[in-house]
Amino acid sequence: MHHPPSETPAWFEFERSHVWHPYSSIEANLPVFPVASASGVRIKLIDGRELIDGMSSWWSAIHGYNHPVLNRAIADQLQRMAHVMFGGLTHQPAAELAQRLIEMTPEPLQTLFFADSGSVAVEVAMKMALQYWQARGVPQRNRFLTIRNGYHGDTCNAMSVSDPDNGMHALFSGVLPRQHFAPAPQSRFGEPCAPADSAAFKRCMRHVCDETAAVILEPIVQGAGGMRFYSAEFLRQVRQLCDDSGMLLILDEIATGFGRTGRMFACEHADVAADIMCIGKALTGGYMTLAATLTTREISRTIGSGDPGLFMHGPTFMANPLACATALASLDLLTNSPWQQRVAAIEAGLRSGLAPCKGMPQVQEVRVLGAIGVVELRQAVDMREIQPAFVEQGVWVRPFGKLVYLMPPFIIDEEDLSLLTSAVVRVISAAT
Ligand SMILES: *Cc1c(COP(=O)(O)O)cnc(C)c1O
Repeated sequence: MHHPPSETPAWFEFERSHVWHPYSSIEANLPVFPVASASGVRIKLIDGRELIDGMSSWWSAIHGYNHPVLNRAIADQLQRMAHVMFGGLTHQPAAELAQRLIEMTPEPLQTLFFADSGSVAVEVAMKMALQYWQARGVPQRNRFLTIRNGYHGDTCNAMSVSDPDNGMHALFSGVLPRQHFAPAPQSRFGEPCAPADSAAFKRCMRHVCDETAAVILEPIVQGAGGMRFYSAEFLRQVRQLCDDSGMLLILDEIATGFGRTGRMFACEHADVAADIMCIGKALTGGYMTLAATLTTREISRTIGSGDPGLFMHGPTFMANPLACATALASLDLLTNSPWQQRVAAIEAGLRSGLAPCKGMPQVQEVRVLGAIGVVELRQAVDMREIQPAFVEQGVWVRPFGKLVYLMPPFIIDEEDLSLLTSAVVRVISAAT
């Protein structure tokens, strides 16, 4: 049946009153745009309008949409099997992907747990740290230390180490485990670490060391907790403080991993390795949900030597073969592409393209790192106004709070990137 573009299809009517969206409610009736298809850097709405994608579907679609190589990988795997349980069974896509990931991540990380989303990878990392100290006979080390402005996911343990103010702590107080928070470093990326930043962290660390299992941080880029880029030297000092006190360090590379910051993993900016590291988002090039938690041989052995001698986690869809096969193809695409040059070109394009926002009265700051461009406003945006305004401009940009930010697919060309940044400049300059 043919629908003229102006007609709202029945499925869309239905979904508007029955289906939850991220951080929304059925009643809020916030704008939602129905998508027909997506290809390359373009998302096509059912009314025929095409939007240039500025979000990579939340850090993940680094190769763009409908990529023939990824399509082929998933179709080929589908001929063999879509899924089998991972309890007691295994398969080549999981084994090969694990090997690739262990080879490309820092050397001490030697074992890998497949999780089905980023939040679950964080839960797994935290449970690994807890079981590690249990096994060592120090069960009282059961808290976590983090820095403010973090974001680690939406499940309860992950929420508990996300920023207590812009996170959801007040709402879920009494339910969330109580964790320790150090101030977020004020020293910016590219700057040395101010003595005040390291002193503040050191003070917290000393204070809570005996009851703390691990420090958990997003390396270099704090994502959904504020889109802040902090000093690599701060991260190096945190690593050193962890080493000095025998504390574990969990690095959450779910947003930063796979090239987004200009390095394959953001921890490489500081030349440090984690004891436990979480990856997700871009792992499958935005095709399937898949995440992983990597750790060291020593931590794996210690957990195995404790009681019950097993790591107590095992998702139903663990190591889904379609997702693993797609991830392998995505890693091939990435590592065989000139991704460093592409990210550097995007960085340059974001810097020049967003520069006109600097000095606008409504703009607090413009900052760029790798393929991430952030315009921080003085006031939170009104999503009911700004979201349709971006669509009118032919771009897909999804701000939150005071942050309008771009993280396009790595394959975006100069012209589309310039269309994207100029749309942001226009929408922000029109915003009051
Ligand atoms: C998105 C994100 C998560 C959560 O991942 P989900 O797949 O949404 O559960 C955790 N940590 C960081 C740094 C993230 O950006």
